Amino acid sequence: MAKQPLIQRLCVIGVGLIGGSLARALREQGAVAEVIGSGRNERNLRAAVRLGVVDRYDTDPTRAVAGADVVVIAVPLGAIEPVLRAIVPHLAPEAVVTDVGSAKGSVVADVERIYGRIPPYFVPGHPIAGTEQSGVEASFATLFQKRRVILTPLAETDAAAHRLIRKMWELTGAEVVDMGVRHHDAVLAATSHLPHMLAYTLVDTLAQMDDRAEIFRYAAGGFRDFTRIASSDPRMWHDICVANREQLLEMIALFAADLERLAAAIRHDERDAILTLFQRAKRARDNLYLD
Ligand code: NAP
Repeated sequence: MAKQPLIQRLCVIGVGLIGGSLARALREQGAVAEVIGSGRNERNLRAAVRLGVVDRYDTDPTRAVAGADVVVIAVPLGAIEPVLRAIVPHLAPEAVVTDVGSAKGSVVADVERIYGRIPPYFVPGHPIAGTEQSGVEASFATLFQKRRVILTPLAETDAAAHRLIRKMWELTGAEVVDMGVRHHDAVLAATSHLPHMLAYTLVDTLAQMDDRAEIFRYAAGGFRDFTRIASSDPRMWHDICVANREQLLEMIALFAADLERLAAAIRHDERDAILTLFQRAKRARDNLYLD
């Protein structure tokens, strides 16, 4: 007898890079019987049907979630609260809800504002995978393979709901880890949010210069590597900035102080200090596991 799929009806609200890639991966694994998409833009949703990412769609999320056993909210952070507020009265009684937002404190606060508590069926999550592209056309089934997915379950989270979402991500080829909400936001501020701020700011600084055409003409590999992420969706990163304000500001302050120390070393011709910094950073970078 054929194995029962893990999920009978999956509803993905926000069928973009992350939501689309998750749906594709689960379909490839035969882990889902039916996928319903939702979003505001019919063109994107029609493309999702054409590409076989979803079976059907409904632009009204309150209808899209009907009868779904798992609902994945994969919209920008600033849209999570209104989406969740709208769908709550329409969820199936046994539905498990999760999200993929890049900051977790703000999502938990959204959920608490809506419910006045944390409902047991809500499992906050964040796949540590992505590209600078957006939309369903950019999605692909292998995006999460060998990547980490962080879940930040709370004391109130139902163990079976947590297990289901863990299993769902494992089926995409990801390694799933649990983390506290604050710890997640601190770690991501350092490793993802700060680097995006640096890339956006560097490109913007150079783009404001009078001789920018000349500058960009001679941009080589290092500049391209460093600034690739400045092509990421500005709205999404605006939302992440606002959502993880406190932790991000701490990291910006730390980095600004270190950059100022480097500037002082350059100003005062402290060659040993400069070399020591570069050697320490190279050692750390060379020892990192980064693929
Ligand atoms: P994306 O490709 O732009 O997809 C987001 C989708 O959400 C779009 O298809 C959009 O469709 C829909 N959407 C936007 N605003 C909406 C609203 N107000 N109501 C309903 N649907 C809305 O973005 P993504 O990269 O998949 O990011 C989605 C989430 O994943 C974000 O919360 C982000 O923080 C998180 N995340 C991103 C990455 C990454 O590297 N990209 C990595 C991990 C986590 P319509 O235009 O049709 O509404």
